[in-house]
Amino acid sequence: MYYFDYAATTPVPAAVAAAMVETLTEQFGNPSSQYPLGMAARDALAAHRAVLADTLGCSSDELFFTSCGTESDNWAIQAALHYGRHRGRHIITTAVEHSAVLEPCKFLAQQGYDVTFLKPDRHGKITVQQVEDALREDTVLVSIMSVNNETGNVYPVPEIARMLKARKSQALLHTDAVQMFLKLPLDVKQCGADLISISAHKIGGPKGIGALYISGAIQSKILPLLRGGGQERGLRSGTEATAQIAGFAKAAQLRAAQFDAIAEHTRTMQAYAKERLLSIPTMQLLGTPEAPHILCLSLPGYPSQNLVHDLGSQGICISAGSACHRGKPSHVVAALGLSKKESAGAFRISFSGETRREEIDALYSAVLTHKNTRFPML
Ligand code: PLP
Repeated sequence: MYYFDYAATTPVPAAVAAAMVETLTEQFGNPSSQYPLGMAARDALAAHRAVLADTLGCSSDELFFTSCGTESDNWAIQAALHYGRHRGRHIITTAVEHSAVLEPCKFLAQQGYDVTFLKPDRHGKITVQQVEDALREDTVLVSIMSVNNETGNVYPVPEIARMLKARKSQALLHTDAVQMFLKLPLDVKQCGADLISISAHKIGGPKGIGALYISGAIQSKILPLLRGGGQERGLRSGTEATAQIAGFAKAAQLRAAQFDAIAEHTRTMQAYAKERLLSIPTMQLLGTPEAPHILCLSLPGYPSQNLVHDLGSQGICISAGSACHRGKPSHVVAALGLSKKESAGAFRISFSGETRREEIDALYSAVLTHKNTRFPML
């Protein structure tokens, strides 16, 4: 099998699985229990939280575990609206956010919130100026992703944070950093956002665990997401997913230790794939692949559904836009203002430290054969 869908999810290394198995079978105590097994689980939880907080450059008190990136995004939005509820109901986001941000924002628009969805240019770019132009007195939330999961565009979140400060805006800044975390440098101070979402399964961790960074400065003014036993400092109750958290921390540790080598290798593979695939006549680059692990292309006239299917039957995994869309046309590609044929032909390939040149050669041959043997759509 040739796997080119690391932006959708990643395999779990043996060391990560081993850390999880140990937690499930031996260190299985409930962190709230008052005997040694429980205390050991509590200590392990604290250690794992510290690893992740360290990776992000925040304090352990600012990192809250959630069940996934989607939950982190939903919580961040809810938190910001509550925080700013006496000031207004205006939200600024982009038309190209992951559906974990886009769908809650669309829902809020139906509920009477005023939501500005910024549109990218043809190259997938969103500028600080666009955000500044949309900013109002009653803006309570600016939610802009760090890396677009379909095009690989990097958005200027640190610059937006500085602009908000310079304008003395009281709006909270949230960034969905699921595709940036441990792919590009990410430090909460340098980033400047009040709320940052991350997820484990994009970095070699298990599915079903994410985290939300909540700046210490705003914590006392946000609502708990889940009420109950008071876990996660009272803001998200529920017995902690200790095995998933152990896997998350181990994956982050492994990645962080090899950060530069993985980033360099991934960037090299991306450049090689770009060069090879763009040599196929009519192939187009979509967006701007600023992140090292994502490449979005289009073969106009050749619907990507067919391409994904053909390649899949040969054991080559690529994505027609985001995996989360399950076959529906991608809102990200639609927002780029392309022709119908260009949009229908859009596909995404994504890389990791394990991607090899021979795999890219096999992908190139399969795409070329697909083009030469399928009739183009009219
Ligand atoms: N945000 C982005 C940018 C993503 O790429 C994804 C996953 O595809 C998510 C959020 C959702 O993360 P999770 O699958 O952990 O809910």
